Amino acid sequence: MKMQWTRLSMRFVVPLAMVLALGAYVVVPLLDNFTLRWFVRDLDIRSKMLATTLEEPLLDYVPQRAKGKINHLFSKAIEDERLYALAFCDKNDRVLYSTSTYPASLGCKEPGASREGIEKALVRLPQGPVHVAQSVMSREGEAFGKLVLVHDMSFIEHRSADTKKYVIYFFILLGIVISLITVAVAHLSWRGWINGVRGLLRGELLPASHARPSPEVSPLVGDLRALLHEYHRERQGHRDGEQAWTPERLRELLRGELAGDEVLVVSNREPYIHNETANGVEVSRPASGLVTAVEAVMRACSGTWIAHGSGSADQKVVDKHDRVPVPPEQPEYTLRRVWLSKEEEQGYYYGFANEGLWPLCHIAHVRPVFRSSDWEQYVKVNQRFADAVIAEARTDDPVILVQDYHFALLPKMISKVLPRATIITFWHIPWPNPESFGICPWREEILAGMLGSTILGFHTPFHRKNFLETVDRYLETRIESEASTVSHGGKLTQVENYPISIAWPGAGEVSAESRNECRINIRKSLALPPDHLLGIGVDRLDYTKGIVERFQAVERMLELNPGMVGKFTFVQIAAPSRSSLEEYQNFEARVRALVLRINQRFSQGNYVPILLKAEHHDQYQLNRYYRAADVCMVTSLHDGMNLVAKEFIASRYDELGVLLLSQFTGAARELHEALIVNPYHIEQSAEALYRALTMPEAEQKERMRSMRALVKDFNVYRWAGHMLLDAARLRKRERVMQRIDTHHRPVLRRVV
Ligand code: UDP
Repeated sequence: MKMQWTRLSMRFVVPLAMVLALGAYVVVPLLDNFTLRWFVRDLDIRSKMLATTLEEPLLDYVPQRAKGKINHLFSKAIEDERLYALAFCDKNDRVLYSTSTYPASLGCKEPGASREGIEKALVRLPQGPVHVAQSVMSREGEAFGKLVLVHDMSFIEHRSADTKKYVIYFFILLGIVISLITVAVAHLSWRGWINGVRGLLRGELLPASHARPSPEVSPLVGDLRALLHEYHRERQGHRDGEQAWTPERLRELLRGELAGDEVLVVSNREPYIHNETANGVEVSRPASGLVTAVEAVMRACSGTWIAHGSGSADQKVVDKHDRVPVPPEQPEYTLRRVWLSKEEEQGYYYGFANEGLWPLCHIAHVRPVFRSSDWEQYVKVNQRFADAVIAEARTDDPVILVQDYHFALLPKMISKVLPRATIITFWHIPWPNPESFGICPWREEILAGMLGSTILGFHTPFHRKNFLETVDRYLETRIESEASTVSHGGKLTQVENYPISIAWPGAGEVSAESRNECRINIRKSLALPPDHLLGIGVDRLDYTKGIVERFQAVERMLELNPGMVGKFTFVQIAAPSRSSLEEYQNFEARVRALVLRINQRFSQGNYVPILLKAEHHDQYQLNRYYRAADVCMVTSLHDGMNLVAKEFIASRYDELGVLLLSQFTGAARELHEALIVNPYHIEQSAEALYRALTMPEAEQKERMRSMRALVKDFNVYRWAGHMLLDAARLRKRERVMQRIDTHHRPVLRRVV
């Protein structure tokens, strides 16, 4: 209230003061000057006219020395109220005749140095200001004297004082009017703005209603809506924040909120791969953030996971329904495998998904490739997976978790057959802006396919917003921004952001080796001295991960800090990925060539600065590296989340080690205490690397402690829990609606 009054009085006082100052210091002096010039010019003309009139009689009277006539002439002339005095001077500047009013001090001298300046004709006498003009009188071309005309100017002062007074009154009035207008306009536009924002926040200006927010509000529309949505999500997050998310809590949630409901997961990558080896059939877990995350859910709910059977011994271990219980050592859920021909895999997985959608959604400057033949396979394989899900479903309303960009069409295909199913689709990679996405030749089909979902999840609010804008651009839909829903073809999809994470306690927490053992043993295995500084990078060998930029940063750091040569080594674990694609082969060749060049440049005896380990490592091995490292570098050029960053944090129970994190990862939105870098800015990354390697332990601890607290709370159980809670809420609402529907239908029919 006080603020409002202050604002109001400021809006009134400031314009008033400005207008008054303008009047008093600019307009009044200007006007004064102007009127003075005007009057003086007037008096000049008058003087000239009078002199001309008096010249003729004077020409007669002066030679005759007719004093009486001259005095009479002069006294007649000064009857004019402005003409104050007259005098006639001879050639020797002596006053011959004058009126009694003529000030003796004036004499016959010129009033100024010349007559050019009007002011020079102004003289201030004790009786007031006067205007003095002299007119030379001549006879037959010869001057015989001059007439001095003195005009009273006190009237000018009176007039000027009057003018000043009226001008000031006028400006006071003007100031008040302007101030009132300012207050009124400001008030109205502020109210309008506030109403605009309020309306916006209430959802009255949704795009669906085709209403346009006012121009001053429009630039903020997107941000305000995103903020509001974030705020609601945060509040929801805080409500459940008091209780930690654990596998038990997730299990309880599934038992309580989704009691008896069937849960199915669909992903391309299977969580366990059986391969033929020289030692018989061996099982492995693939390198993927997705598997790490979704496995936690499946363990908690004992459902069925449908995935592509890609291992050489996969067929051998399944039953006649293509099912195998997993994890092999202690089965907790079912893995249902779908078999793909070489042609299907090539078109759907390598072609459309990885040469098309992957570069399309990641801004890493690799052109997407779209082939009609790949698209056909993508549609076909999506249908095959949809058929498998439908076949596995024992009920007509299962909860189905669809994973990633391999299955954009699946939600619509499933919902056609199982309209009561709750389909949660999670898009693990970024979603680009509408322009970037627009280059996909099948953009409408992809969007429509995804909108078959009940819930559609992205990692960050930014990706969610990009998706909504893309849908708005290319499909006929109704979007409710505040509720974050899209209505398309009679189906309502909730679009949310659920930042994925890792299990907590992570594998690192339960690792057999302590931090010190890891430090010593890893250095020993790399033939490095115990106090050697160690950096670590863990990725699939993918062009989006910024591996080249990372190595360039290492090189620059060594260049800038030669003292680090021989003391610091960077270990890059690079799991081979999609290596049948040419783009990936080229990328690997580039990475290897760069490592070679940098190592040659800085090698000293056995020392090389970069150790490239281009093979898959399991979680146990990775944890040992994480714990042994002084710094972990995550420099993705674009990444949905990046789980390596979180795994590194989870493994550091000693609260030491520094995370260097690309600003283009979803993780950077949460891990603010990391050293955030732009991976394209090599110098910046190099400086950050040096800063990380020389960071005092106290600062490392402070940063790490804070990040650990966040990852602990925002773990993968929370990610899954939130999606499933949202699903449960929607299912309850759906059931209530159905009951109402069934209950009222006969009544409605009767009424109709
Ligand atoms: N990973 C692994 N072995 C390796 C390399 C990576 O198990 O040799 C795992 C890593 O621990 C992480 C996942 O692969 O869990 C990579 O996930 P991230 O989100 O970082 O990237 P993505 O590969 O999903 O793009």
